Amino acid sequence: MAKVILFLVAASVIVAVAWLLAGIPGQVVASIGPVTIEASTPVAILALAVLVAAILVLLRLLRGLWNLPRIGAVWLRRHRTEAGERAVTRVLVALAAGEQGPARKQARQARKLLGESPQTLLLAAEAGRLAGREDEAEEAFRALTKQADASFLGFRGLLRQAVDRKDWTEALILAKQAETAHPGTAWLRQQRAELALQTDNWAEALELTGPDPKRPAYYVAAADAEPDPARALAFAKQAWKQAPGFVPAVLAYATRLRAAGSEKRAQACVLDAWKHSPHPDLAAFALAPLTDPLARAQAAKRLAAANPANPESRILLARTALDAGLTGEARHQLDAAGADGIRQRRLSLILAEIEEQERGDTEAGRLAQHKALRQAAAADPDPHWQCTSCHAGVSAWQPKCPSCGNAGTIQWQSDRRPSGLSVAAA
Ligand SMILES: [Zn+2]
Repeated sequence: MAKVILFLVAASVIVAVAWLLAGIPGQVVASIGPVTIEASTPVAILALAVLVAAILVLLRLLRGLWNLPRIGAVWLRRHRTEAGERAVTRVLVALAAGEQGPARKQARQARKLLGESPQTLLLAAEAGRLAGREDEAEEAFRALTKQADASFLGFRGLLRQAVDRKDWTEALILAKQAETAHPGTAWLRQQRAELALQTDNWAEALELTGPDPKRPAYYVAAADAEPDPARALAFAKQAWKQAPGFVPAVLAYATRLRAAGSEKRAQACVLDAWKHSPHPDLAAFALAPLTDPLARAQAAKRLAAANPANPESRILLARTALDAGLTGEARHQLDAAGADGIRQRRLSLILAEIEEQERGDTEAGRLAQHKALRQAAAADPDPHWQCTSCHAGVSAWQPKCPSCGNAGTIQWQSDRRPSGLSVAAA
């Protein structure tokens, strides 16, 4: 309704103007060179209006032509951005699906269309890594490190690559650069702790790791690596306080106490540990100051009294009794261990020595020895230090497995059950 009224009003105005113009009297004469144009005033006014409108249309056309390159560039940019974003999506899908070829191709396309943005560089690097093209990934990560807001991503990627190829020196440098680019991240802290372990920087590893059951092992290693005796003692004490039954920790602390002249405290630590975790190395430490076999047998009795029923106590008593020439006592201890179901090789080897001492180089002695040695060959393995990660056996405890390189994984394997045959026999 409003439109109809508007149309009627406009039509009325046009008719009124036309009627007014038509009513203007007179002639307009224009001479341009030899040409003379003559028209009535209303026609001349109408022609003038048409001329002005034509000039306006022409100006508009010229402006459009002038702006054409800019409009074209905007259109092209928008087109490239849309195509680039589609390529980014395709990279993400290919990465998620583990499709190496398409991921690299689309990453290259995205980088070409969208330029060196953190997003395209990161995708190119990840696509390179997925395809095993570490050189491509490294090039993209290095380009990322030059981007002010995203340099952490570049250092992070390069650090992961250095860790993968076990280049710890390079990894340490990159970790420091990453820390500068973006301080205080939990991930980086964990990486730096891992690097500290790999480079045997035990004190730093302790600073960087939180609660961890392997910390006593790190403390022992830190004590061994520390040249200052007071600091070494402090590390060893921490190891012992955190794990008073962990034999390397007990020995690390007791050794330094002994070196500092606190023999009594050293022996007390070992005796306390024997109650819960008897171990041949503890006995060796406790008896080390004694050279007389009888005195050693007496000291062994005092130690074994703290945990008399344990096989380690019986084996210690058998060994020291045998060394003191007390073969009857040694045999008694072996029999008691055997009655408890212990069938370890070392028992049979001690028995062979007993037979040799008791019977000497006689036919009966040789037969008894051979019997004991045959038993040893078929016996259960002795407890030993073993890596819980790769299961490699080692002759002595170490903070790091020499086979797989993992830290804090060497444990005393003393809980081997007797073999199926022995269980049946028992
Ligand atoms: Zn290992």
